Amino acid sequence: YSSAPKPTFYHKDLQITEVSSRKTYPPKEKLVFGHTFTDHMLEAKWTRENGWETPRIVPYHDLQISPASSSLHYALQCFEGAKAFIGTDGKPRVFRLDKNMERMNRSVTAIGLEGFDGKEAEKCIEELIRLEKNAIPSGMGYSLYLRPTVISTEPTLGVRASNSALFYVICCPCGPYFPTGFKAVKLYADTDHVRAWPGGTGGFKLGSNYAPGMYPQFLANQKGYQQILWLFGKDNHVSEAGTMNAFVFWVNEQGVLELLTPELDGTILPGVTRDSILSIARKWGEFQVTEGKITMDQIVNAVREGRLREMFGAGTACVISPIKAVGYMGSEIQVPLDPNDPNVESGPLAKRLYNEIMGIQYGEIPHEWSRIL
Ligand code: PMP
Repeated sequence: YSSAPKPTFYHKDLQITEVSSRKTYPPKEKLVFGHTFTDHMLEAKWTRENGWETPRIVPYHDLQISPASSSLHYALQCFEGAKAFIGTDGKPRVFRLDKNMERMNRSVTAIGLEGFDGKEAEKCIEELIRLEKNAIPSGMGYSLYLRPTVISTEPTLGVRASNSALFYVICCPCGPYFPTGFKAVKLYADTDHVRAWPGGTGGFKLGSNYAPGMYPQFLANQKGYQQILWLFGKDNHVSEAGTMNAFVFWVNEQGVLELLTPELDGTILPGVTRDSILSIARKWGEFQVTEGKITMDQIVNAVREGRLREMFGAGTACVISPIKAVGYMGSEIQVPLDPNDPNVESGPLAKRLYNEIMGIQYGEIPHEWSRIL
């Protein structure tokens, strides 16, 4: 027997309490993202004194926490987003959950809480997905969205690292992001607000990074733009596209065809989709793939000189979201889409990457990123 705090929870200890009767879900065509939750959730408690307690899968329930909990006052909270799918062969699969658990451990540490073994968490979440297998809508574009979350539960208003927390995972069945084919978005390149800054927390998935974006997002919507193109610095370099990583496909100033995404300098969320795109594009080896920096001036010049091929955002929710225009400094930059078909709201590269990642997620392209459960 050891009284040392448990550094992780373990899959072997997982306790499962099932609901007595399963709920029925709306027809899959009617699912609205983030509104419908499955019958069960995974949870594990942590205290600084004892470490991690037994993980449990239990019926989905409201939480009972003190109104003084520091998650509610000082945003001591972090979260993740991942997806499980029914493959075209009928088997449930999960996509790169290991990357989400690695990122969550970095986020947890960034807010002064203790992490856990990502592999153990992955195995526990896989049990939850197996249990909710029938809640995963089948069909291309349909998925079970997984929302791992850690909140501080310590009932104190003291401004200091928390001594107690709860890890939990809830699941939402969801429909395709583009039910009727790609819909390219218009972004507002905001020069008044910044999402993240050097030395800040933009590289972690903390709730506290999102709340300050809501009002700028509302203002951009009022101007007729769906999302913000976040910029940073006196040179207005591109940071992220709303809650997606930004990609620019262009012929750069050296005349080289290049796919560029902002480098992970601490202001950029290390997206799992971003990482997947970089890896796929590097494997293709057909153009230069760069993690670097690009300014709005460079984009404006590239458009003027006919060197901009495509821009798109990338994230778990949509996989890839083509960009058709960027509002910047009072004018609108037109971004090329499909040069051969004006009815397709996506550039050819965005579409090809989308098909490749979807192919892996639904098991049509065998790949280690897609784990059969
Ligand atoms: N940037 C931000 C700010 C995000 O919220 C997300 C969504 N998690 C992403 C990028 C994309 O990350 P991922 O591909 O892991 O979903």
